[in-house]
Formats: sequence, structure tokens, C-alpha cells
Amino acid sequence: MSAQVVIVGGGIGGLTLGIALRRAGVPVEIYERAEELREVGAAVALSANGTRVLYRLGIGDGLDAVSTQPTELIYRDGVTAERVAAHPGGASYRARFGAPYWGIHRVNLQQGLATAFGDEHLHLGSGVASVAGNDSGAEITLDDGSTVTADVVIGADGVHSVVRDHVAGPGSGPVYSGTSAFRGLVPVGALPSLPDPLAIQFWMGPDAHLLHYALGADDDTVNFFAVLCGPREWGGVAGPHEASEGELLRGFEGWHPAVTEMLAAVPQSPRWPLLTQPPLNRWTRGRVTLIGDACHAMLPHHGQGANQSIEDAAVLAELLATLDPDAALTEYPRRRRGRTRAVARIAWDTGTLLHLAAGAEAEVRDAGLAHYLDRFSWVHSHGRAAPVR
Ligand SMILES: Cc1cc2nc3c(=O)[nH]c(=O)nc-3n(C[C@H](O)[C@H](O)[C@H](O)COP(=O)(O)OP(=O)(O)OC[C@H]3O[C@@H](n4cnc5c(N)ncnc54)[C@H](O)[C@@H]3O)c2cc1C
Repeated sequence: MSAQVVIVGGGIGGLTLGIALRRAGVPVEIYERAEELREVGAAVALSANGTRVLYRLGIGDGLDAVSTQPTELIYRDGVTAERVAAHPGGASYRARFGAPYWGIHRVNLQQGLATAFGDEHLHLGSGVASVAGNDSGAEITLDDGSTVTADVVIGADGVHSVVRDHVAGPGSGPVYSGTSAFRGLVPVGALPSLPDPLAIQFWMGPDAHLLHYALGADDDTVNFFAVLCGPREWGGVAGPHEASEGELLRGFEGWHPAVTEMLAAVPQSPRWPLLTQPPLNRWTRGRVTLIGDACHAMLPHHGQGANQSIEDAAVLAELLATLDPDAALTEYPRRRRGRTRAVARIAWDTGTLLHLAAGAEAEVRDAGLAHYLDRFSWVHSHGRAAPVR
């Protein structure tokens, strides 16, 4: 008999897992702390390894309609704007990897997923305070003190996961990477100096980089993500800090006008610490396991955190639908640990490479970027065996 599954967290991974389990006929409830699913002002880029899963779940076309497919992936010198390397996007990327690459507003993605999952089993405003387990099941305690028991509990509660504390122990959480970021959404019309506004572009330079891609049903908005090295320590809680006036622009002084114009086009955002999860030795404890950022939060420089959460969800749903719960939870980390570690590793290495000053090392990097999609096709091709539809 199918297990009764409880998912803690209705983010990208939790909702995808919920949809996949329901499609497979496994009873599932999601408990989400937020009162409503909105993260306005932020976006996400999804590659073929993630969008393929969403197509298989039957929600690809709806999300495609509110996404932008980048025309190219371009790497540029941050000061001169020289095109260091470029790779085709759009239909060419889709034909190569069997599913599209999307830039999408996070709120559109979350709401598309939530609609597909439905209201009935999604409990908003239901934060989970703690988890306890035994050999045959697990129990969550909500913030209001009430409890829910299940055959299996899955922590999809993000980088500051409480479920991870139960599985891997307190203090097992993420660490500050020594880098931080600002974000913004800018109307394309405010960017006259920007070449190739519909491409996804990395502008590289010493101790900083800028990433941007277009968004929206009319491709009329650019989402940017500007990364600076430092500060060395991140004091207080691992959330955003208010930055001093002009801090972002000072970090990009002397860069190409297309860069500074974009950063200056909107009010400066808070400064976000970039966190990374050291590899966990344990993903599963009894009938409790973890997916997504709760177990492998990674730097965003390969655009893979959400994609890996989606992959986790697809694998775990299939296992829970076909094996008994103990076998499924034992097999799941075996299938996912190696790949997610490898992707987290390349995300870290990419951050270092994007921040090189001009010189011999940067020349080696630039030569390598010419083969980027060939080198990392293993990321984008994942799960390709069966056709998308
Ligand atoms: C600036 C930035 C840019 C990024 N860009 C990309 C990108 O382009 N592509 C990409 O693939 N990835 C990107 N990522 C990474 C991506 O956002 C995450 O990897 C992804 O959101 C993880 O999904 P998740 O479902 O595991 O966790 P989350 O999306 O964080 O969802 C966790 C959910 O759990 C809920 N929750 C938390 N605690 C509790 C609790 N105790 N009880 C109940 N609910 C709880 C939260 O409210 C939330 O809804 C980026 C990350 C950052 C910081």
C-alpha cells in the first residue's frame, strides 16, 4: 500500500515532489510556513534537466507560456564587453537537450506548481517546528503545537531546514561562501547600452561578476544577479543585510556602461550572503529524508539549485511509488548524492573562475568557456532517456 507522505516546505522542490507523488497515486500533504506562495522580485533560470521533469508532469506548456527562452548563453569581459564565448540558446538548445531553457519569474513558477498540486492538500501558514521519527513512521510538530503523523516525512524546507537538524544533527547546516549578491529586475527599455538583451549573459571581472537574463511573457524585463567577493565574514543571521548607499555600484566601478547602467537602473537591493551546504553524510534517518536546498544548497553560478531540487523530486517520487518506504529511502541517496555533489562542486569552481583578473589563468578559463556546453552536457542531458512528450 502506498505510504502516506508529508512534505515540509512548499517551495520548488516540495511542490514538484507533491505533484509527482499525486500523479503516481501516493497520498501526500504539504505543510508550508508562508501564508501565500509569492516571492515577487526574484527569478529563476531552469535548464533542460529541470524543465524536462515539468513537461513529464504535464505542466511544461503552461510554464513555457510565461517563460523566456534565452537566445544565447554569452560570456563577456566585464570592462570591454568583448564576447569571450557564446553558445546557442532557444530552439537550438532545446533540440540538443530535449527540453527548453527558461528564465521565469519565481512567483509564476511557484503558482504554476501550486495550481497543479491543488489547494486541498497544501496547508499554507503551517510552519513545522520539529520532526521526530521511529522505524515505522515520523511525526511533525507544527508551530501551533499540533502534530501530524505519516509513514514518510520529507524535508523540502530549504537552506535553513529544520528537518535537516533531525536527519543530520544540529549544526549540520550551510556555511557562508565569502561572496554575496545584489538582485534586481529592470525594464529592457531602460538598458540602451546592453547588447543582446534577450541572451543569458555573464560579465566577468576581478572579484565580481554580473549575470542577467530576460523574463516575462513579453520578454520585457531583465533579471540581474550581481556577485561581489566579500565581506570576509557575514555577521548575524544568514539573511540579507541592508547595504550602504552606492555599495553595489562601487563594487563595479570602471566596468562597461551596459553593466553600470543596469545596476543603477533600479534602487539597490539588500546584500544577500551566498551560502553553500557542506556535503551531508546522512540524507535519510529512519522514515525521514531531505530534498533540494535542505540537503545540498549550492552556489547559484551554474543555475542548478532549483533544477537539482526538481531532479530530486522526480527520483524520490518514482522510488516511493514503486518500492516500500524503507527501500525507497535507502535507495534515494544512492541515486542522488554523487550527482548533486558534482554539480555543487562545479558551481563553486565556476564562481572562482568568473572572478579572475586578466592574465594567464583567465586565458585558460576563456579557452575552456568555448566548450562550456560540451563539457557540462552531463548536467543538461540528465533524464533524457525518455521523450519529453
Ligand atoms: C539569488 C539566487 C539565485 C538563484 N538562481 C537560481 C537559478 O537561476 N536556477 C536554479 O536552478 N537555482 C537558482 N537558485 C537556487 C534555488 O533558488 C534553490 O536551489 C531552490 O529554490 C531550492 O528549492 P527548495 O524547494 O529546495 O527550497 P526553497 O525554494 O527555499 O523552498 C523551501 C520552502 O520551505 C518553506 N519552509 C521553510 N522552513 C519551513 C518550515 N519549518 N515549515 C514549513 N515550511 C518551511 C519555505 O517557506 C519555502 O517555501 C538561486 C538561489 C539564489 C539565492
